Amino acid sequence: IFYMLIGFIRFHFCCGFQCAFAALKASRSSTDHTPSHWAEINGSHCGEHHQSPIDIVTSIVTTDPKLDNFTFVNFSSQHSIRTITFNGHSVQCDMEDNEVEVSGGGLSGQYSVKQFHFHWSKDGAGSEHLVDDHRYKMEMHIVTEKKDVPGGDVLSHKDGIAVLGFFINVSNRLYHNEMSEPWQMLTSYLENITAELNHNISLSDLIGHVDLSKFYRYMGSLTTPMCDEAVVWTLFQEPIQVHKDLLQKFPENTGLSFNYRPSQSLNGRKITASPATPLPEGE
Ligand SMILES: [Zn+2]
Repeated sequence: IFYMLIGFIRFHFCCGFQCAFAALKASRSSTDHTPSHWAEINGSHCGEHHQSPIDIVTSIVTTDPKLDNFTFVNFSSQHSIRTITFNGHSVQCDMEDNEVEVSGGGLSGQYSVKQFHFHWSKDGAGSEHLVDDHRYKMEMHIVTEKKDVPGGDVLSHKDGIAVLGFFINVSNRLYHNEMSEPWQMLTSYLENITAELNHNISLSDLIGHVDLSKFYRYMGSLTTPMCDEAVVWTLFQEPIQVHKDLLQKFPENTGLSFNYRPSQSLNGRKITASPATPLPEGE
C-alpha cells in the first residue's frame, strides 16, 4: 500500500481533471506507474499517436493567418480563483464556475476556464513542452472546456478541451518587480496548501506582461492518464518571469520533486503559429 501510494503521488501528473480518479484506478490495476507504462493502463490513450507534450521545433512551424487574437472574458477578475490545493501530482487552482472564458485565437467556440496548475522540477527545468529542445523552468496550464458540447462530454471531441500553456522563466532580479507581487501572494499559500484564496489575484495578474498575440498551436492530449486526445493546445511564446525564490517553493513545500511527462512524438502533426509569432527565417 505504501509503495502504491508513493507511486500514485510521484508519477501521476495532471493536465486536467478526472486524473486523480483515473490515477487511483490505475494504481489498483497495474504495478508500474512511470509514464512509460501508462499505455498499459486499461482504457488508456497514452500509447496513441497524437500525444502531449511535444518539442516545438520552430524550423517546421508554419504561420497560420486564422490564428487571430484571443478574446479573454474576466481574466482580470480578482475574485474568480476559488481554491488552491496540492492534489498529489500538482498544485491546482480551481476557478468559480462559468465566470472566466476564452474564445478566438483560432478556437472553434467559447471555452470556460475550469482550473490552472503547474509543472516543475526541483533540480533544473520542469516545463512539459520544449521549444527547440529547450526546457523552461516551469509551465502553467490553464485548462478550459468547450461550452455547448452535447452532454458535456468534452473528452470525446478532439477540441473538447483547450489548454493555454505558459512557460515560466527564472527572474534573478534582486528586487521583486511589480509583476512578482501576485506570484508572491499565490506562492504564500504553498506553505499551508489547501485553502480558499482570500487574496485578490487574477489570471491576468499572473500572466503579467506576456504578449498574448504570440503563440503556437497543435492538437494533442492530456499529459496524464488517461491521456485523452481531446486537447487543442496553445503555447504562448513569451515566458512569464517569476523570481527564483518563489518558484523554488513548488517542489520544496509540496515535497514533489518533479511532475512533467516526457516529450512525445509528433507523428506527422502540424504545429502552427499566430502571425505575430517570430519564426526562424528561410523556412
Ligand atoms: Zn498540465
